[in-house]
Amino acid sequence: MKVFTTIKEIRLHLASCKGDSPGPGFVPTMGALHEGHLSLVKKAVQENALAGLSIFVNPIQFNNPSDLDNYPRTLESDLRILNPVLRENDFVFAPSVREMYPEPVTREYQFGNLGKVMEGRFRPGHFNGVAIVVNRLFRIVEPARAYFGEKDFQQLAIIRRLVEIENMAAEIVPCPIIREPDGLAMSSRNVRMKAEHRKAAPAIYRSLYEASQTVPELTILRLKEQIQSRIDSTGLLVTEYVEFADETTLLPVTAWSDASAIRCFVAVQAGDVRLIDNMPVQGKSR
Ligand code: AMP
Repeated sequence: MKVFTTIKEIRLHLASCKGDSPGPGFVPTMGALHEGHLSLVKKAVQENALAGLSIFVNPIQFNNPSDLDNYPRTLESDLRILNPVLRENDFVFAPSVREMYPEPVTREYQFGNLGKVMEGRFRPGHFNGVAIVVNRLFRIVEPARAYFGEKDFQQLAIIRRLVEIENMAAEIVPCPIIREPDGLAMSSRNVRMKAEHRKAAPAIYRSLYEASQTVPELTILRLKEQIQSRIDSTGLLVTEYVEFADETTLLPVTAWSDASAIRCFVAVQAGDVRLIDNMPVQGKSR
């Protein structure tokens, strides 16, 4: 694998590998890699003659300064994990903040409802920051395919819209959520949880799973209450939102007939750490 920290170097490398092939398979990440990230990277390697990832903790997508300060940065061990997975010319792009943002960022995307519900409501500015960095990364890497986890399902919808807005050629490939054996969705933030919160955290998965199995006997309203009470009754986790939404528009639904594909989304505060998860509860996932 090749590791680059400047735009100039990675551009040269990509140009030298290009030949007749389309652009690389690409996985944007913020590092502190776990099996969830690796599932995306392995898929990118399998499906593309050239593949790579970015490792960049993007300051402009953090709406909470202490979350940015405490975000794990583990480049050396990330590279060790990637070494056996990536091939000779596959790449890691790990730029500095200065390299990515030589001047202040002003762009403001309009994602309509997609950017206003759920994470958009609770994390103002977050998706604009995500869109700006992904747009920049795509302009540098020019991927033929880019891989995103359904763990951040709303982000996936935002990226699909971004590609339309920016007229970019990348195919966006959704990848399933990878979980710990006890059901907790893998996340770089999980290591920051205190032991007691970590122990309680699988209640999130269990409540979502239970809801996905009882559909459609209960109303959506009843299920929302059930999920929230299962999570909050741990006494350690605090629900920020439980939302049932149309998988395509992400608009909230209140009845099973409101959409053919419905997913349940939750955000939970576990001490200092904020966790999100989601699960399809009706209809086929895209
Ligand atoms: P992050 O480093 O958190 O920005 O995540 C980088 C990419 O990995 C995003 O597309 C995430 O959705 C994806 N990802 C993170 N955690 C998981 C997981 N547990 N399962 C699948 N994909 C994940």
